Amino acid sequence: MAEEFDADLIEAARKTFAGPVAFLKSAPALQHLPEADVPEVAFAGRSNVGKSSLLNALTNRNGLARTSNTPGRTQELNFFDVGEPLRFRLVDMPGYGFAEAPKDIVKKWRFLVNDFLRGRSTLKRALVLIDSRHGIKPVDREVMDMLDAAAVSYRLVLTKADKIKASELAAVAERTAEEARKRPAAHPEIIATSSEKGLGIAELRAAVLEAVS
Ligand code: GDP
Repeated sequence: MAEEFDADLIEAARKTFAGPVAFLKSAPALQHLPEADVPEVAFAGRSNVGKSSLLNALTNRNGLARTSNTPGRTQELNFFDVGEPLRFRLVDMPGYGFAEAPKDIVKKWRFLVNDFLRGRSTLKRALVLIDSRHGIKPVDREVMDMLDAAAVSYRLVLTKADKIKASELAAVAERTAEEARKRPAAHPEIIATSSEKGLGIAELRAAVLEAVS
């Protein structure tokens, strides 16, 4: 299930995220992307999966990533610079899977994300967040399909692990990892996290640093 990271990598990652992290820009369309000059790690997940909370926990900053639960207001990629001098970027991808999202919004999301995944030479990895309580949903599989097709390496990350019992977490982690192992571009190990309790955050930092090193 959960992966063991080297202690030196964990410590290097802790130091990296204790240093400067700054919002760079929002890109509502591809022509607004920042120059592809440093490695990037993207975060994807259904809306309400806990993506903003996880980005804030990862970077030790409250309010760095903001949630917008209004469908149609979140169709943009948000870029965050990590390190001074700049070492890499985090990319907060627009949340997906709004039940009530209008068709044109879903279409716009698909084009934006697909074009980004296929065309971004500096994108090293995507982290696909999965709510521990729900496991992988069909809409998550669509995103995994897009990543597999674009050959972008990705890792599945369980969120809100504090919300379920340890036995349930072990079961959902096993099921999720089993599905990951069948995917060509997915990392076979998953990471279980709780932004609320700090669980798995050190490992997630290590996984990000590993991806851009
Ligand atoms: P986003 O839409 O994916 O950015 O999700 P948010 O980060 O805004 O989180 C959605 C809701 O889940 C909020 O009410 C958070 O307080 C809650 N939440 C996020 N992460 C956790 C967690 O690790 N544990 C618990 N118990 N709640 C969480």
